[in-house]
Amino acid sequence: MRFSKLFLPTRKEDPAEAEVVSHKLLIRAGYIRMIARGIYDFLPVGWRSVRKIEQIIREEMDLAGAQEVRLPAVQPAELWQESGRWSEYGAELLRIKDRKGGDFCLGPTHEEVITDLVRGEVKSYKQLPINLYQIQTKFRDEPRPRFGLMRGREFIMKDAYSFDTDEQAALQSYDVMFETYNRICRRLGFEYRAVEADTGNIGGSRSHEFQVLAETGEDEIVSCSQCSYAANVEKAEIRVESSARADDAELKALTQLATPGQRTIEEVSKFLKQKPAKLVKTLIYLADETPIAVLVRGDHQANELKIKAYLNAHTEISCRELNLAADVEVERVTNAALGFAGPVGLQIPIFADLAVEGLANFIVGANAVDAHFVNTNHGRDFEVRAFADLRQARGGDLCARCGGSFESHRGIEVGHVFFLGDKYSKAMNATFADEAGHEHAMQMGCYGIGVTRILAAVVEQNHDENGIIWPMAISPYHVTILPLQNQDEEVVALAERLYAELMAAGVEVLLDDRDMRAGFKFKDADLVGIPLRINIGSRGVKDGQVELKLRRESDHRLVGIDEIVAEVTQIVRTSLATAKEAALS
Ligand code: ATP
Ligand code: MG
Repeated sequence: MRFSKLFLPTRKEDPAEAEVVSHKLLIRAGYIRMIARGIYDFLPVGWRSVRKIEQIIREEMDLAGAQEVRLPAVQPAELWQESGRWSEYGAELLRIKDRKGGDFCLGPTHEEVITDLVRGEVKSYKQLPINLYQIQTKFRDEPRPRFGLMRGREFIMKDAYSFDTDEQAALQSYDVMFETYNRICRRLGFEYRAVEADTGNIGGSRSHEFQVLAETGEDEIVSCSQCSYAANVEKAEIRVESSARADDAELKALTQLATPGQRTIEEVSKFLKQKPAKLVKTLIYLADETPIAVLVRGDHQANELKIKAYLNAHTEISCRELNLAADVEVERVTNAALGFAGPVGLQIPIFADLAVEGLANFIVGANAVDAHFVNTNHGRDFEVRAFADLRQARGGDLCARCGGSFESHRGIEVGHVFFLGDKYSKAMNATFADEAGHEHAMQMGCYGIGVTRILAAVVEQNHDENGIIWPMAISPYHVTILPLQNQDEEVVALAERLYAELMAAGVEVLLDDRDMRAGFKFKDADLVGIPLRINIGSRGVKDGQVELKLRRESDHRLVGIDEIVAEVTQIVRTSLATAKEAALS
């Protein structure tokens, strides 16, 4: 491709709204443009990279025995009513009406559609297992679209769905997909972790997220430094060696202090000159309709999934949904303005994290405006109904499996595999007949991978202050040729010759034939991020040499004009092959 003909509008300035590097660079380097919040155009170079990512995914899915289909983006409401999700899915589901007033939605995911397809055609155990996938545009009306392609509203996903006769077979299908996702991540050159993830409302199932490690990731994960356990902090189980308060702890007298206007943990700890770990947060939740209080240490975060699971497993309080109570509700149960809630005198059940159990003489809100208690003690000043692991894991916590210490990372969730069981097949009557002719619901799994989010995640892990640094496998072109003096006929002629010869050798080449200064071309080349660059200058041509520069390295080296085509072809082939081999390792 000739740069002069390519629709590649680069920009000098970072877009004002962009917060993360992938968003900035993909816009500046001419890969994407925003058309509405969370909705993007893909320009030619951007689309080439997207298609390469899709192709890697496609090859690995096909290798795993899955078959590609294409399902509609517009889906009838009836299917969603059958599964129950028409009412459950909430505002992320973009609902539309056709001219006759019929209800439809833009597909955020395709469990309903695929289950409908399969139940119509699969009747016998002989037709199972099957795994069908598609690569397609999804729409989710995300509350906070941000970070460019990382959290869009319209985005491309590969989604796959497996159907099996029983749970054991379904878990085997799951394991095959789990390994396939690992292969895809390795081919893309990601530094990543496959982590255990929450299974949401489905319960009792298996789920992993594929998290690409990056500071800008929205997810927080922990991985054990001793064993292979890794999990989203939402899910990670902590080992607590001993949580009881020391028997001989001296319990000081409960004292109320004035804390005018000091509401948050940071404010109160600063005001009273105490570490946040000496404070205890009182959170008022509604478990369905029942108000409850949850206490966690000031420096800890409550984990709502753990709270919910605890209530359902160990108490009579039903908790299909757990929500922080609204301001008025907090004021009603605590009799105090917001920010001063505390456990002393509360008339609702109090649950506390294990870390609170060991504390003596801590600080809590006094349930009175502008006041806190110091030297508060559970058992004496208020009763805790139960102590349990109710907080989020963090770095330094102990692994529940082996007692090793957790490291914490931020991650970008690029993929998610999920064992579904019969959730959809039961609701939608997707059954098959076994050998004896008995009908059973199929066992399903679903497997999503974010194609456009991957594009952003690759940039998050591969860039420097000058621009993107693509891995060969998904770079829009393998090599870019820069003739540095456009008025030197020999330079131009050599550039044209290498351009033709490299293309003939199967290399994808971008020739910067624009009538621009060398410095300008260097800047754009760094920004656009093609992994190999050939600089052709007047002096080199006289000496029979060109400069070969790797985008990832700062130095270049001189290569003879007669060797350059073979050299570049070799580098391209080797790095593509290495990426493929990485999938196997
Ligand atoms: P998240 O927790 O990030 O919202 P999710 O759990 O809703 O993700 P899934 O429903 O499992 O995501 O979708 C499968 C994959 O689709 C995700 O792993 C991610 O790579 C991609 N994806 C999901 N939502 C978005 C989005 N808003 N923008 C871009 N990609 C997305
Ligand atoms: Mg989501």
